[in-house]
Amino acid sequence: MKDRFKKIEEKYIDHPLFSKCIGARVPNGWVDLIDELVIWLDTYNVDNRTLIGFAQIKIKFDMLTIYVEHYIDDDYLKYGGVHLSNIRKKISDICNRSRLTCKVCAKEKTELVIDSVVKFVCLDHMHDETTWFTVREN
Ligand SMILES: [Zn+2]
Repeated sequence: MKDRFKKIEEKYIDHPLFSKCIGARVPNGWVDLIDELVIWLDTYNVDNRTLIGFAQIKIKFDMLTIYVEHYIDDDYLKYGGVHLSNIRKKISDICNRSRLTCKVCAKEKTELVIDSVVKFVCLDHMHDETTWFTVREN
């Protein structure tokens, strides 16, 4: 069962942008979103001659929640919050997309009306997804 988080742990355990990250529990289905962000952040750091890395990645309110920080202390004084706010825009896009992405298989979810409520679900993992990961949110 713990295999559901295995992908991210194996992939980024030694990655420089994760060296100060206190936790990155990302279900396998969302690892593609993290991959996209890592590549984007790498480029951003190079272009702006700074080093912003991950502080924590978790699931909150059934969404991906990502915190970043300056890995070099003086950079915050030097740049203020400019870079952090640029990066948070990209993060917000990624996190919003996590809502529509199945945590198990990474497929885009389908809109479905359940008990008169519109929900986005993966038809292959409807039950799997909701029961399993909600418990582990905190
Ligand atoms: Zn699925």
